[in-house]
Order: sequence, then structure tokens, then C-alpha cells
Amino acid sequence: MKQYDIAVVGAGIVGLATAFRLMQSRPGARILVLDKENRPGRHQTGRNSGVIHSGIYYRPGSAKARNCIGGYRLMLDFLEKSGIPYRISGKLIVATGEPEENRLQELYRNGQENGLERIRLLTARQIRDYESHITGKAALWVPYTGITDYGRVATALAAKLRAGGVEIRLGQRVKRIVPGPVPELHTSHGIIKANRVVVAAGLQSDRLWGGNEFRIVPFRGEYYFIRPPKDRLIRSMVYPVPDPRYPFLGIHLTRHIDGRVSAGPSAVLAPGREAYGKFDWNARDLVDTLRFPGFWRMALQNRRAGWVEIRRWLSKRAFLQAARKFLPQLQPDDLTGYHSGIRAQLVDRQGRLVDDFVFRRAENVLYVLNAPSPAATASLSIGRHIAEII
Ligand SMILES: Cc1cc2nc3c(=O)[nH]c(=O)nc-3n(C[C@H](O)[C@H](O)[C@H](O)COP(=O)(O)OP(=O)(O)OC[C@H]3O[C@@H](n4cnc5c(N)ncnc54)[C@H](O)[C@@H]3O)c2cc1C
Repeated sequence: MKQYDIAVVGAGIVGLATAFRLMQSRPGARILVLDKENRPGRHQTGRNSGVIHSGIYYRPGSAKARNCIGGYRLMLDFLEKSGIPYRISGKLIVATGEPEENRLQELYRNGQENGLERIRLLTARQIRDYESHITGKAALWVPYTGITDYGRVATALAAKLRAGGVEIRLGQRVKRIVPGPVPELHTSHGIIKANRVVVAAGLQSDRLWGGNEFRIVPFRGEYYFIRPPKDRLIRSMVYPVPDPRYPFLGIHLTRHIDGRVSAGPSAVLAPGREAYGKFDWNARDLVDTLRFPGFWRMALQNRRAGWVEIRRWLSKRAFLQAARKFLPQLQPDDLTGYHSGIRAQLVDRQGRLVDDFVFRRAENVLYVLNAPSPAATASLSIGRHIAEII
């Protein structure tokens, strides 16, 4: 049986970025990357908004703040060197009511603390200088924010890994991990041994970890595209002020790297971890979620927000309500082409949505338990951090 120095489970952007960093820092090491799918980046990595986040939202000193700000530079450098298209077009965060105006000030201070010196608070009139069709009471201009395609980043990382001698096995599911001095991966194609294992399995990460403290609760983010001519009303990206109780940023308008403009994502509970279709579900996932006490606590504590999300799922009019606050011209008929991604959101037994990135270690296995947004932006920094730990 071939034994590896390091095995990485998951060829999403976090697993690939980790293997990339390990390849650079440990020349000659025998590294293996495994994924159950037949191509890299099929789940969260290939189904997100593509935004290169600046770090404005995250608590100073948190793992999200550190890795997003550090990862931003590394990502731009990687995109540049790999010839992957990206655009730093900036974004507006728009307050449409008084409580949001206050939160905008807090966000401004947070951004300054995170070293984002060029962010600017705008009056209602100044908003038009950046997005001529957007209305609001005030806004924050974040010039650092960019857009790319993380699916392409995953493909490029995989190509560089292969060229550097890293083995990537696709279509091979890890069923169980036995930690120990030399951990064993029990896979659909037999047992693999490695001196160190990194698990970056996104939506399945808690299952491979096996602990009881947390559960991944899948939240589906639904998107629609805005059809012409209304798509021309948006130049770059327009976000609402996020509700600080949730790790989600609210339905925003995004001009993607291919020029299309989307509205989304929502954040509705998904009845399956990979249930991307509007009515898809998965019995095992559903039972797993419903059996976790933290889920019921979360559902009870957030029932109003949950109801808003269900309405958005059922009706395009409800979906658009948030975006119409700053772009009233949008009508449900302007929406076309449903698309979705599912967030792997860690929830604890008390029902709290875990905000920060979470890593856990058992002997020689390191688990990435919570890597939600902005983990795509932050991936190369997360990879560097993991490489240092192991
Ligand atoms: C709707 C949405 C919008 C987002 N927008 C942004 C954004 O604009 N900017 C940003 O920075 N971030 C964004 N994110 C977050 C970002 O996409 C994720 O944080 C990031 O992709 C996580 O990467 P990952 O490698 O951890 O997970 P994934 O990409 O989900 O990869 C995990 C991999 O593990 C594999 N796997 C799972 N179980 C097994 C197993 N048992 N055996 C073998 N392989 C296995 C899966 O097949 C998968 O390929 C968004 C996420 C979503 C869902």
C-alpha cells in the first residue's frame, strides 16, 4: 500500500489551496488530494458569487478578518500570474433606513480597524456618483472589492498541483477516517495511509469529523439573473447593510466577470446538502439536520428570519423586496435563469450559527469544520495557515 506524507480530502478551493501551499513549502513531499466528484470545485467553490471580499465585515483579529485580508493579496497575485480574469470594481453597501445608517457607521469603523483606509461614507446624493440608478439614505463605498470566477481558480490550482507532482484522485469518496500516528482513509476504492491528513470537505466536513458538538446545516443561496435592459442599471456591486445577527450578507446585485448581473443569494434552509434544484431534497441529510438539537434551537430563535426566507423561496416578488429598496425599478419579470449554491454553515448545539472559521485537530488529522464566505477569497491564506500548523 502506497503511503503519503500528506493527504488532503476535498478538491474545493480550500483543499486545493492547502495542497498548493504544502507543495511549495515541502518540495519532494508525497501529497495526495482526493475528491468524491469527477472534477474539482463542484460544490461551494463552483457555486458562489465570485466576489473577492475586502474584509470590511469581519471582527478585527478574527480568523475571517486575518485570512480575508491576507488572502485578498494572495488571490490577486494568483489571478494575475494564472491569467484568470478579475476586476476590482468596488462595491456599494447601501442603507435604506435609519437603523441601517447607524450600522453603516459601525461597518465603516470596522473597516478602518481592518486597515481599509480608502473606504468612504457617502451621502444620499453622492451615491449617484458611483451607481447612478441606486437610491438610499447613505452608503459605504468599498473600492477594494472585486469579482472573479472561483471555479476557474480551482481548475488552475489543480493544474499547478499536477504539474508539481501532486496526485489528484477524483471520483473517490472518503467514507471514514481513522486518526492515529499514521491516519487511515477508508475510501470507496480502498484504504489509504498518510502521515498527515487535512479534511476540507465543505458540506460534508462534520460527517468525516464525527464529533457531536456541531452540525453542518445547509443554507441554499438562490440567485436569478437580471435580464436586459435592466441589467444596465448596475455598474458593479450593490449590497444591503447586513443584519449583524446572521453571517449572511443579504440579497445583493452583482455584475459578474462574464458581464451578467445577478440578484441573490437568499439563505433558505436546504432539505439536502447538495440539493441544488429548487425542489430537490435528500432524506439522509434531512434526518441528520432534524435530529440535531441545535437545529431546533436555531429554528426557534430565528423563526421570523426563516419565514422571510421561505417567502423568498416561494415568490420572486418577496425575493426582490430587499433589492427593490435600493433599486425600485426592478420587477419580478426582470428576473430570469434560476441558479443556486449551498453554504456549509456550522451550527452548535445551542443553535448558534458559528461565524468564524473553525479548525479541529485529532492526532495527525486536521479538520476544516467551518469555512463559509469569505473562504474563497481567503483560501490561499487559509492554506498557508494549515500548512504551518501541520
Ligand atoms: C451561495 C454562496 C455564495 C458565496 N459567495 C462567496 C463569495 O462571493 N466570495 C467568497 O470569498 N466566498 C463565497 N462563498 C463561500 C465560498 O464559496 C466557500 O467558503 C468556499 O468555496 C469553501 O471551499 P471548500 O473547499 O471548503 O468547500 P467546497 O468547495 O464545498 O469543497 C469541498 C469538497 O470536498 C469534497 N468532499 C466532500 N465530502 C467528501 C468525501 N467524503 N470524500 C471526498 N471528497 C469529499 C466535495 O466534493 C467538494 O469538492 C459563497 C458560498 C456560497 C454557497
